[in-house]
Amino acid sequence: MNPDRTPLIAGNWKLNKTIAEAEAFIQSLLPRVGAVEDVEIVICPPFLALAAMVDSARGSAVGVYAQTMHEEDAGAYTGEVSAPMLAEIDVAGVILGHSERRQLFGETDRALQLKLPRALEAGLKPILCVGETEEERERGDTERKLRHQVQEGLEKVPGERLPEVVIAYEPIWAIGTGLVAKPEQAQDACAFVRALVEGFDKGAAAKVRVLYGGSLKPENAAELLALPDVDGALVGGASTDPAAFAEIVEIARRVRSGAG
Ligand code: PEP
Repeated sequence: MNPDRTPLIAGNWKLNKTIAEAEAFIQSLLPRVGAVEDVEIVICPPFLALAAMVDSARGSAVGVYAQTMHEEDAGAYTGEVSAPMLAEIDVAGVILGHSERRQLFGETDRALQLKLPRALEAGLKPILCVGETEEERERGDTERKLRHQVQEGLEKVPGERLPEVVIAYEPIWAIGTGLVAKPEQAQDACAFVRALVEGFDKGAAAKVRVLYGGSLKPENAAELLALPDVDGALVGGASTDPAAFAEIVEIARRVRSGAG
């Protein structure tokens, strides 16, 4: 973690929590995190709970992001939600290219290339997810995969807006499996992602936040968050429990302050 970049801890709830359950979560989380300023905290509820979470989190340290969005503002895209629709209810950002969206719902690099600038134009902060499968890692193709995903995803982002993009390195073999990347694997991949951003703009690379995601929990958070090119985490399973999520935020604060 580099103290010049504000760490971001984002919780991806996936297909979990009704509105009532999301309310219970936020009422439990808010007193635990108080007025934290040294770490940015984000929750990403399912679409239907977004408006309620925005209202409940208003004025707090917790931001609310969506888990995906369509690249078009409107049209014949049954079941989809667009950037202006999210912005209208004060959603602050959006996860784009999560591996589950790519693998299960056919989200393509071509669509992501349009989604990133569209999100930024609408006032949404994008978190672009990238990462390799187990087979790609075993074949030695990790960097090739990351290069392709980062270069495609950032291709149409205006240079001056690059620092606003967050990139989450999420090895697919570590998502929801309990298998966490070794610190050197996470550091190498996050440093490589930052170097790819440098290929677009040197100044932006120093500012872009690169997150680690994949079975991160309170027990393994400190060593991952302490890595020099890791600026926070995208957390799945552990983010659905307010105590565990607040503990990860607290660990990020300690790491940032140098207290480990
Ligand atoms: C994720 O889905 O982005 C994720 C990191 O999940 P988990 O923490 O459960 O591995």
